[in-house]
Amino acid sequence: MKTVIVGGGLMGLCTAMLLADDGHEVTVLERDGRPPPDPRQAFESWERRGVNQFRLAHFFLSGFRRIVESELPLLRRELDEAGALTYNVLSGIPDSLKGGARADDDRFDVITGRRPVVEAATARRCEETKNIALRRAAPVAALVPGSSDRDGVPHVGGVRLDSGEEILADLVIDAAGRRSALPRWLGDIGAAPASEESDDSGFVYFGRHFRSADGQMPALLGPLKQDVGTIGVLTLPADNGTWSVTLTASSRDVELRALRDTQTWERVNRLLPLTAHWIDAEPLDDRVTVMAKIEDRIRTFAPGGKPVATGVLAVADSWSCTNPSLGRGATVGMMHAVSLRDHLRHPEDPWALATGWHERTCETVEPWFRTTRAYDQHRLHEIHALMDGHPYETDDELWHLNRALDASSSRHGDNLRAALDMAMALRRPDEVLGDPALRERILGHDGAADKPVAGPDRGQLLAAVSG
Ligand SMILES: Cc1cc2nc3c(=O)[nH]c(=O)nc-3n(C[C@H](O)[C@H](O)[C@H](O)COP(=O)(O)OP(=O)(O)OC[C@H]3O[C@@H](n4cnc5c(N)ncnc54)[C@H](O)[C@@H]3O)c2cc1C
Repeated sequence: MKTVIVGGGLMGLCTAMLLADDGHEVTVLERDGRPPPDPRQAFESWERRGVNQFRLAHFFLSGFRRIVESELPLLRRELDEAGALTYNVLSGIPDSLKGGARADDDRFDVITGRRPVVEAATARRCEETKNIALRRAAPVAALVPGSSDRDGVPHVGGVRLDSGEEILADLVIDAAGRRSALPRWLGDIGAAPASEESDDSGFVYFGRHFRSADGQMPALLGPLKQDVGTIGVLTLPADNGTWSVTLTASSRDVELRALRDTQTWERVNRLLPLTAHWIDAEPLDDRVTVMAKIEDRIRTFAPGGKPVATGVLAVADSWSCTNPSLGRGATVGMMHAVSLRDHLRHPEDPWALATGWHERTCETVEPWFRTTRAYDQHRLHEIHALMDGHPYETDDELWHLNRALDASSSRHGDNLRAALDMAMALRRPDEVLGDPALRERILGHDGAADKPVAGPDRGQLLAAVSG
């Protein structure tokens, strides 16, 4: 099948490789013009205006590694050559907490790196893959209508570039990311509106990257993601002896906007006993990278099961994206891309292809969006309650189960692994938390869920912020 992929970001590239390996003829059209440099130099020198989060913290979960190894083994090799870090997230946890090693603990292996490094390695592999033409500086401006066999439902026969050039295809795949213009383009060719739920997730990110002198990671004294009262801290190992440290806050928290100032950011990090040592290294950026207005968005291009158009399918962030604090974007995007590849293994007429894609997406990937957003919204409400000086109260069982599992995971090897199955996107949260044996174990815990992680109280935090 002749396919055009709009967007050569991480998932556009992976989708292209999956389809090309299956014999499809793939053209990837990427708006940004600069080709990737050597992956090891990509963080310093690759300009990617099309991806706002390009220089912010990324961590690639075990779920991502598992798919790369089984579906794109040559990408795994390319990531290794780029210096991506492979390690097991259980490795730093003492035997007394994890109950010793188990035969299947290797499922918690990750391969991770800074976003530009991982994307540059992915692009390099993509360029070497047969059946793929990757064109940069090729911004898509519109869809080209094809011939439709359904009244009121346009068929997409290709795309038009900014330059006016038209590229025709049997199938257009939209991988243009969280700000994709697909709904507008569809409207322009007469499609009914796609349905969309979209909100500012309410979080702001303040991040920096560091490098160690000896290639070693700082000691891990707690989880990679910690909630400390009204802030969060993410300490994420990456490639070539580098890592990121990110503080997260509510966008409503006006006082914490000062975290964009490097000295303020450092002062607050110094208050966090489990992670303060992560900033004792060479910074790779001279300022704090800030990102706000990150949408939680899900689109449906087949409201009520009826596609608004045929000949075009959306994948990864173009279809749905969330606040990234749980780091699931690339893993869920990969699940979606593999599902698309599998879907195209059963060629159908354009209508069946579009309805089938909608059904697959709802079954396989939408639950990740729903549970991720629900978790984040609870955390945001918790922050707001703490800012107002009282504890967060909710009767939503999901939140209590999540908190109880976190609290009990340092006391029970099975609970720890269940928490990591969820955190590493190996099993869905509803599946993990629905396990009756687990529920019995965690609901009987001793209330430690309510104990905050070591760190400043709100008064100490605001004092550090105001200098
Ligand atoms: C702050 C932040 C931190 C994150 N951290 C993590 C993390 O730790 N782990 C994780 O797994 N995920 C993380 N994510 C999510 C992850 O970045 C995304 O899930 C992933 O980039 C999605 O890939 P994509 O290819 O769908 O979109 P993108 O990577 O956004 O790529 C879209 C591409 O489409 C191109 N494009 C757009 N419009 C056009 C057009 N008209 N014509 C041609 N090209 C076009 C863009 O230039 C871009 O290259 C994070 C996201 C954010 C916002």
